[in-house]
Amino acid sequence: MGMTRKELLKLLGLAGAGGLLYIADRLWPFRGPEQEDGVRLTAGESRWRPAYAVLQEEGRLAERIEQAYSIMENCRLCPRRCGVNRRAGQLGFCRAPEKAMVYSQQPHFGEELPLVGRGGSGTIFFSNCNLRCVFCQNWPIAHEGWGREVSDEELAEMMLDLQRMGCHNINLVTPTHVMPNILGAVRIALQKGLNLPLCYNTSGYELAEMVRLLDGVVDIYLPDIKFMDGLEAERYNLAAASDYPQMAKESTAEMHRQVGELTTDEDGIALRGLIIRHLVMPNRVAGTREFVQWVAANLSTKTYVNIMSQYRVEFMAFDYPLIARAITSEEFVEAISWAKEAGLTNLDERSLSHYALHRRRVP
Ligand code: SF4
Repeated sequence: MGMTRKELLKLLGLAGAGGLLYIADRLWPFRGPEQEDGVRLTAGESRWRPAYAVLQEEGRLAERIEQAYSIMENCRLCPRRCGVNRRAGQLGFCRAPEKAMVYSQQPHFGEELPLVGRGGSGTIFFSNCNLRCVFCQNWPIAHEGWGREVSDEELAEMMLDLQRMGCHNINLVTPTHVMPNILGAVRIALQKGLNLPLCYNTSGYELAEMVRLLDGVVDIYLPDIKFMDGLEAERYNLAAASDYPQMAKESTAEMHRQVGELTTDEDGIALRGLIIRHLVMPNRVAGTREFVQWVAANLSTKTYVNIMSQYRVEFMAFDYPLIARAITSEEFVEAISWAKEAGLTNLDERSLSHYALHRRRVP
């Protein structure tokens, strides 16, 4: 059909609102049969739709895809700004080819509860990484590139499979270097009935101007903020990302501008908004106090923040004395106490229960 849903509604202007919705639901090609399973109501009355469906309806998704792929020709998709032409086979720091590489796709039940619900979060783990920390817990995938190349069409099918399995969102893990492929795949999947929010699950090493390309595409942003000090970011990264704190702060502020605080449906499932993750590291290396203060001062005290306790020594971290151990109960308790002192009111439930457990061990 060559007209937008909005135009169709205008054309049928004599019908009542309910009738219009009914007719549009039957005629509009992007609302396939999966819509009947996938549609959920927000706390309000209106039907929820993913951001990218609206962008497509406005005729603006195709131009975003074109723009993103053209950036890949002189690649500056992330702060590394390698300038290589990935479409001509050149590889930059992340070693990602033109096509997306995927290690796995599956419902995941270990993510934040609003992402998991009953059906799980539909994770797609992309191979390679533009940051590459020395303590990476996914190092075979992120550093060594385990996975296989997929076309945008195959990636779209993976998204649809996750929807059929009952997942509540498409959780794109380490998406920065494959952002154009994701946009291309989403458009294809939308035409086949995808109706789930995209969750952009990033290390935080992003360029704010690239995040702006995702405005109106992504509903849920899930960035890490790993370090607040450039020297620490430089020390614990394979290629000196001393600009990490600045990049993470600027891009997270842009994400917050786009989607705001987390909103959920009547079952508590995330529909839209920002969730920030912060991994507490030994010896205060992550700058947790500065992190929580920054969130409170620059975003909102109601921002959903997950302060995580599960740091473990992985990959090359054994060679770095300050991070070659797990965190102590004292370190986790002080981290959550700082968050509370900063006035953060929307801390992840699991991090609060870990806090309660650790507190018992601290005199
Ligand atoms: S996405 Fe990869 S190739 Fe592109 S700028 Fe970043 S590290 Fe370099």
